[in-house]
This record gives sequence, C-alpha cells and structure tokens, in this order.
Amino acid sequence: MPVLPDNRAVHLINADLHSHSTVSDGTLAPARLAQRAHDSGVQLWALTDHDSVGGVAPAREAALDLGLAFLAGTEISVSFADECVHIVGLGFDADDADLVAGLAATRAGRLQRAREMAASLARAGIPGALDGALAYVDTPEAVSRAHFARFLVERGVCADVGAVFRRYLVEGKPGFVPHRWARLGDAVRWITAAGGLAVVAHPARYRFAPTLEYALFSEFAAHGGRGVEVVVGAHTEAERHHYAGIAAEFGLAASRGSDFHGPDESRVDLGALPDLPGTLSPVWERLAGRIEGRVPQALTG
Ligand code: AMP
Ligand code: MN
Ligand code: MN
Ligand code: MN
Repeated sequence: MPVLPDNRAVHLINADLHSHSTVSDGTLAPARLAQRAHDSGVQLWALTDHDSVGGVAPAREAALDLGLAFLAGTEISVSFADECVHIVGLGFDADDADLVAGLAATRAGRLQRAREMAASLARAGIPGALDGALAYVDTPEAVSRAHFARFLVERGVCADVGAVFRRYLVEGKPGFVPHRWARLGDAVRWITAAGGLAVVAHPARYRFAPTLEYALFSEFAAHGGRGVEVVVGAHTEAERHHYAGIAAEFGLAASRGSDFHGPDESRVDLGALPDLPGTLSPVWERLAGRIEGRVPQALTG
C-alpha cells in the first residue's frame, strides 16, 4: 500500500465525497463549498448534488484553483422496495449524454410532486408553500423537501428543519407525497457507463429489514454497483461497523462523506469524520485515475 512520508496510508486521506450546493438543496454555492472544504482540511472532495451535475463545472474550477483534488459527483434518487434510496456516483464524465438525460428525467418529477405537497399542506392549514419553497431554490426543477422545510421554519410552523420532517414531510404525515424516482439499475448504469463508480449512500438511513437490505446490495452489485458509504455523517459507530461488514460481504469499496448541506443545518462539517477503517478498500483508490487536480501524495506513491 502506498504511504505518505509520515506513514499515513491511502485509507487515511481526508476524503469528503458527499456534499450539496445551492444547485440542489445545499445553502452554499459550489465555489464557496470548495473554499470551505479546502479550509477544513479536506484533501479530496466531490460535490454530489441531488439528481444534477449542474454544479460540477464551477466546483471543479474553484477546487483546482485552491489545489484541492476533485471528483465529479451526483446523488441519484432511486425507488427501491417502496423506499427512496440514494445512489452516489463518483468520478464520471459529467458531459456524458445518457447520464445527463437520466438526471434530467429524474429531476423532471420534482416540480409536480412539489405542487402536490403544497396542496396537501394547504389542506393541513399551511397555504402558500409552493411559492414559499421555490423562494429557497435556484432552479424550480431542483425543488426538494428541504426547501419546504426551510419555508415552514420561516413561517414559524416548526422550530427547525428536523421538526418539520418529523411532523410534515415523512410518510404518513400531511405534506408527504409518494413519488416514483429512477430505477436502481438505470442509475447504476448511467454512472458506470459514464466512467464512474456507483455507491450506496448512507445505507443506515433506510431502516430495511435484513432480507430487504440483502436484496438491495445484491441487486446493486449485480447491476455493476461497486461502493458503499461506510463513514458518513448520518452513521453511528455501530452502523459504520455493520456497513464495513456489508462492504466485505459484497466485495464493495468503501466511501466517506459528510453529506454537508450548509453551516446552519448540518451537524457534521466537511471532512469532519472518523477515518475509514484500514481493513477496507477506499473508493478513491479505485478512482485514482479519475481524480482531477493535485492528487494526494498517498495515492501517487
Ligand atoms: P427529497 O429529495 O426532495 O425527497 O428531499 C430529501 C432531502 O431532505 C434529503 O436529501 C435531505 O437533505 C433532507 N432530509 C431528509 N430527511 C431529513 C430529516 N429527517 N431532517 C432534515 N433533513 C432531511
Ligand atoms: Mn439533501
Ligand atoms: Mn441522501
Ligand atoms: Mn446527500
């Protein structure tokens, strides 16, 4: 294994391969996010906006100006077993026509869902939520539940976005509208055919029973998915341990990312995560040839 002069190994690179900008539901523009990643000591960074690569070009430009190694990224919303599962894509060609078209098709349903969410919230006594949510988003087609949450906090309906999700925006609550996202196999194929690596995002968030979790990873790997987030903002130590086991069982590389959305909303800042366990194969080792800018020394040795 290549090592740094101070004997820090590849798995100890401060990689943050999951973050959001104003292109989706983050609150910082891509260039400001690059600056914050750099200032926080991140050595390898990926922007992974929901269902979009719209921020990749400005993020790359800002990262390369800062000497920060960069991977193109996105986070695709997928429907699997009546749950919305997120698949992160890393290191692809962001101009790939099939990927760009697939992301556009996935985004296309968001505005219609937002109209239905607003109608449902109006019936629950909260009018004006469509315009309210859209005021928080750069492009209407990127509108997400996070933008509704910010509007409901602004209105004083709830004290913070976490409370909005618990009371209004999850299954069974008045503002929740079921939605058909991309298919798992399509999302994995768009990413891998564009030269990238597909990663199951924050797997502990889905609360699948063991048989469904096994089905998710089996199908994901059968479609060509090759990675899983093990060290991620939402995971506890026990969950990191569990998904390290899943990585070994399914032969998947391991990823690490904060899922940072903004200074006011995210508990975990860019790069502020535990190290990746040394027993795992980091996704950035498999993506070394796709990294842009100054590649961390531990990967070039
Ligand atoms: P959507 O893609 O429109 O369904 O919105 C999902 C987004 O809402 C996620 O990417 C998170 O940014 C945010 N989100 C989901 N659940 C929560 C929660 N419990 N608390 C705060 N934000 C959440
Ligand atoms: Mn989000
Ligand atoms: Mn996600
Ligand atoms: Mn995310």
